[in-house]
Amino acid sequence: MALFVQKFGGTSVGTLDRIHRVAERVEKTVRAGHQVVVVLSAMSGETDRLMKLAHEITSQPDDRELDVLLSSGERVTIALLAMELRGRGINARSFTGRQVGIVTNSSHTRARIAKIMASPVQQALAEGVIPVVAGFQGVNERSEVTTLGRGGSDLTAVALAASLKADRCIIFTDVDGVYTTDPNIVPSARKIHKLSYEEMLELASLGAKVLQSRSVEFAAKYGVPVEVRSSFQEGEGTLVTHEDADMERALVSGVTGDRNQAKITVVGVPDRPGIAADLFSAVAGSSISVDMIIQNVSQGDLADISFTVPRSDLPRARPLMEKVKVELGAQRIEVKDDVAKLSIVGVGMRSHSGVASRMFQTLYREGINIMMISTSEIKISCMVNEQDLNPAMKALHEEFGLSEPVQAKPNLG
Ligand code: ADP
Ligand code: ASP
Ligand code: MG
Repeated sequence: MALFVQKFGGTSVGTLDRIHRVAERVEKTVRAGHQVVVVLSAMSGETDRLMKLAHEITSQPDDRELDVLLSSGERVTIALLAMELRGRGINARSFTGRQVGIVTNSSHTRARIAKIMASPVQQALAEGVIPVVAGFQGVNERSEVTTLGRGGSDLTAVALAASLKADRCIIFTDVDGVYTTDPNIVPSARKIHKLSYEEMLELASLGAKVLQSRSVEFAAKYGVPVEVRSSFQEGEGTLVTHEDADMERALVSGVTGDRNQAKITVVGVPDRPGIAADLFSAVAGSSISVDMIIQNVSQGDLADISFTVPRSDLPRARPLMEKVKVELGAQRIEVKDDVAKLSIVGVGMRSHSGVASRMFQTLYREGINIMMISTSEIKISCMVNEQDLNPAMKALHEEFGLSEPVQAKPNLG
């Protein structure tokens, strides 16, 4: 008998008919003699709908109230699935984040899990009950509802799997695995059968939303084997686990695109020591995370500093930058919100040079302008105009031969 955490995403519970199908799948696993903990997202589109309502009522909704609102989507699906399972004679019970004992810090809308008191779930399992847990939510030390950031049901599932020492955490979604790039953008994308935590973490944090990046971080830390599978069809998915000998050793294993990006330029700041420190302390002070940064000398003793932030943080960043402009004596602030981050990822880059130049050549050939570049040991990212993102992803996917099955020996280009 194995213990599985089975997580179903928004599309998988998007209609009552699909909730029936989820129940069938859970029932099959239970009837095969396994223990199951189910984690659910809200119905697809529901979290966006609630977010829109909040922004219709006020331009800057309070984060605490936003969490109360957003967490309601997952309560609907857990109750419906528990009812459906009970109707099939399966003793299921729904659990909210609070009931399951997921305690987080107080960073509303992006809370981090501090601890999980898995005992309510363990007790339910011991009683032969199937726990149906609301993803994406927890409570802080004062029992106030928090949410774990967009896509956070993946994190709930992985964190529960870690604390219950489950045999596997299975993420059921609308694609049948992790692909070399988003198969909805590049149809020739190829499924990757096995992937290391490290590569998956890069892919996820660079925009492959098939797994939330924090859930991958958590899985790596606690060694939780994660499988991404289709909730609509049978068949093997992608296993994300420790790096091992039979993993594909591609030079580049994936291409990602991230549209949640905006570029801010502080034009004409005095070029003297301490300016960057002042600027970025102000940004960090309001919990806006900065990604790429470049500084250019403009004229005389003035410099331009450009940096990128999540586009969703712009409403908070704009007024802050106006204040910073006055404090630093800058000339003006420019904001460009139609940019996107394009990245290639692969552990093979560690040992082979020339990948960056191939990436830049390919973009040049396609007439795509690169605004900013950043690299790490196993990834290269470029900021491009948003309209160039899809053609760029297709061109890079082709350039690095990702549609073809990977050879036993790596293609060294
Ligand atoms: P869920 O609602 O089940 O959590 P998501 O929409 O969060 O599903 O994630 C699944 C989506 O991730 C897919 O529909 C696909 O468009 C997108 N995606 C982006 N990059 C990749 C990739 N490399 N492999 C597979 N899917 C990807
Ligand atoms: N419902 C939440 C979201 O849309 C959490 C999730 O689906 O994982 O972000
Ligand atoms: Mg998701």
